[in-house]
Amino acid sequence: MDPCSVPGLDASQIAAIRHSARALLPGCASFLASLIKVDTTNPPGRHYPECAALIGDKLVSLGFDVQYIDVPPESYGELAPLGEGLPRRNVAARLGGKGDKTLHVNGHFDVVPAGTLSTWKHDPFGAELENGRMYGRGSSDMKSGIAAQIFAVEAVQRAGFKLKGSIEQSGVVDEETTGVRNAGMGFLVEQGFFAPERKIDAVIITEPLGVNNICFAHRGTLWGTYTFYGRAAHGSMPSLGRNALHHACAFVHLANTTLGPKLAARRDPTVIPPSAQVASLAFTVLNSGSNVNTIPDVASVQFNRRLVYPETIEEARKELRDVLEGMKAMEEFEDMRWEYEESYQTDPAIAPSDAPIVGVLQSAIGLVTGKDAGWVTTPGSDDQRFLVNTLKPPIKATYIYGPGNLSVIHTSDESIDIENELGKGLEVLALTFASFLGLEDA
Ligand SMILES: [Zn+2]
Repeated sequence: MDPCSVPGLDASQIAAIRHSARALLPGCASFLASLIKVDTTNPPGRHYPECAALIGDKLVSLGFDVQYIDVPPESYGELAPLGEGLPRRNVAARLGGKGDKTLHVNGHFDVVPAGTLSTWKHDPFGAELENGRMYGRGSSDMKSGIAAQIFAVEAVQRAGFKLKGSIEQSGVVDEETTGVRNAGMGFLVEQGFFAPERKIDAVIITEPLGVNNICFAHRGTLWGTYTFYGRAAHGSMPSLGRNALHHACAFVHLANTTLGPKLAARRDPTVIPPSAQVASLAFTVLNSGSNVNTIPDVASVQFNRRLVYPETIEEARKELRDVLEGMKAMEEFEDMRWEYEESYQTDPAIAPSDAPIVGVLQSAIGLVTGKDAGWVTTPGSDDQRFLVNTLKPPIKATYIYGPGNLSVIHTSDESIDIENELGKGLEVLALTFASFLGLEDA
């Protein structure tokens, strides 16, 4: 393929769309600033209706039919347990075309907490500009993706075209607090929003994987707690008790020494950054004991297991169970008792390499960045899981492409390069929409 071509578009159409995307960049940046200034910190999930309205109003101005999808308050407890009863409002929009293709583009507009304010040089909700970068919580993850996906449609329109197929956009809540179910993308899936009769051909989620990368997958995750039960005794007579803390610590040690080397040998070279390419098990929270002179009768330990394809959560559970069963077979631990509880799990999510949207994204990325597109897996998990793993039948052609950079997300002074990240992402998305859905004169 000619490195300067995008399927279905001629040179003058490409030039017109790129020109109009560049002309719209200041407007796109100021829309991004207005999104950053609405503090949507999650948890607990502040000001969702205000942020949804900003997105919805902008989409209305581009001709979209906009609907707001509210989670009923009686479901808050189950779908938004950390939400403190605050409203859960998603926004979804459609701009129908005559063609038979439909592309859905999605972003989440909740952001993680700013953390310790004294570690920020910039106001986390100030959207300050400095040396071509905009600073603020959500600047990369992922209000920039939402701004780019919306302005990409405007870029096509301002270039004098109409999209032939149908384009849909959604802004959802509560991505950052994960969950097997949630009040955002998970709720939309449960409500039948992505039902097969709507014939959505492909989904792009505009998370910040970098303007040069197509992300086709995320790793798996298993979070859980083991609670060990023993028997209390006076600290001067430990042999009369059963020390639950010792059991927990022995388990942590054995799991690390027996499973650790096995996991370290499981590598997925597509994961970015390289430090996330191996499967891992980390123990992250330990609770036990009430005073120094009592043998603890309860100890709980939480773990964070990250899986690489083709590992499955069922296998990961069994490996941990095997460590415990192995301990129970030892005389020292034969009366050991424990309970197991999971707080979050997802299998790895994988999209195919041969969906038509992939070729379109590759050529648009090549044209705009001058480099071959990367083909990567994201280290955490994201809303792709709901469309690829939860939804039946799945929308397998669900990919992540968006401006921003993984190295700055969830950090102090999160930022985005307006010209090189937001601007390039905007151009790539505009060309992708035009190529995938086709153009007609406005
Ligand atoms: Zn995100």
